[in-house]
Amino acid sequence: MFSLKDSYWEIKKTKEKGFGVFSKKEIKASTVISDYLGKLINIAEYDLENDRKGLYLMYYTDQASIYPDLTKPGPHLINHSCAPNCWIYIYHCHTLFFALRNIKPGEELTISYLLSPKDETYKPCVHNCKCGSKNCNGTMHLTKDKYKRWQEFQNKDKKKTKKPKVVFGKNLMKLSSYPKFILTNPIYQIIST
Ligand SMILES: [Zn+2]
Repeated sequence: MFSLKDSYWEIKKTKEKGFGVFSKKEIKASTVISDYLGKLINIAEYDLENDRKGLYLMYYTDQASIYPDLTKPGPHLINHSCAPNCWIYIYHCHTLFFALRNIKPGEELTISYLLSPKDETYKPCVHNCKCGSKNCNGTMHLTKDKYKRWQEFQNKDKKKTKKPKVVFGKNLMKLSSYPKFILTNPIYQIIST
């Protein structure tokens, strides 16, 4: 679900990455863009390898992932980039996306999928990156080093926040209110340096 008014974004077809989300008006840095909603599924019972839609799953807990409603426009359509202009912020156990910098009209909104390092046993890897940024790694997978830093950050963060209650098969409902801006941005610094 986009928390940003629909006058700010549109869904368009990209050249190589299927659909993507583009800004229609300037989106100011720190603006909250969306909440990743969907059905909570048990990842242990989910056949990740045989579902190409697996990339739409969003982490919720170590056991549960969010499976979005693919019939509706939502943040699952935001493509990966090695130089993203959006980032993730966990707010009341919900996964919000917010703008890392001012996003100009017409720019594509992008996020890092933060995939775990490539597992060489599954070949060929389908997570090739076509983001076109100057520092494109050619893959959506993080390096071992960056992934370790990301895990360490998450573990520290998890200790601070209450563990969400998971009911598999249930839909994650919209929060009663959302912040307009996310002003802290420590996660990005951990991964980008
Ligand atoms: Zn890339």
